[in-house]
Amino acid sequence: MATEQVNCVFCSIINRKLPSSIVYEDEDIIAFMDINPVNKGHTLVVPKIHEQYMCDIPDETSQKIFPLAQRINKNLRRLSEASDSGIKLEAVNLFLADGIAAGQEVYHSHLHVIPRFKGDSFKLHNQYGTPPSRQELDATANRIKQLLQEPSTPQPIQSQTSPKIVPDVIIHN
Ligand code: 5GP
Ligand code: ZN
Repeated sequence: MATEQVNCVFCSIINRKLPSSIVYEDEDIIAFMDINPVNKGHTLVVPKIHEQYMCDIPDETSQKIFPLAQRINKNLRRLSEASDSGIKLEAVNLFLADGIAAGQEVYHSHLHVIPRFKGDSFKLHNQYGTPPSRQELDATANRIKQLLQEPSTPQPIQSQTSPKIVPDVIIHN
């Protein structure tokens, strides 16, 4: 399924209005190299449907995203073992910014597959503060658990376009 949003770079890539370096494509999803990679091999897995939030992606599409990321992860690892690939990989981050405050800059949902190595420049600035009590963790877990037991009725979230919030999760290139 594909929809197109004017001024969306990923829709333009999907519709071949912008160039990209594609590694995989089928009727629902596409994967291509990030134009400004954290590290060499940084790949984006993108549903073709234009939705900002992962909860608005139809199940038949979203359930393809993780398996493809897993295959890309595996093959990046294989490539990093080839002396001519230039891909340095000791570990991998899967990263998905689901909204502006989470660091989303392209408002078309996408999953990053990022090769990582010790001493690279990728940073997540975490300031978790004081850990909550077990009672508080249990209370939150119970609220989520109850909702998970309800039949799934996804509600579309209003797309955020402004104002732009400075994210507290920063990808350094
Ligand atoms: P976000 O911050 O939304 O999670 O990540 C957006 C990602 O899209 C960034 O890593 C950025 O480099 C990448 N990106 C932005 N514009 C383009 C583009 O035109 N082509 C490609 N291939 N990647 C892009
Ligand atoms: Zn789009």
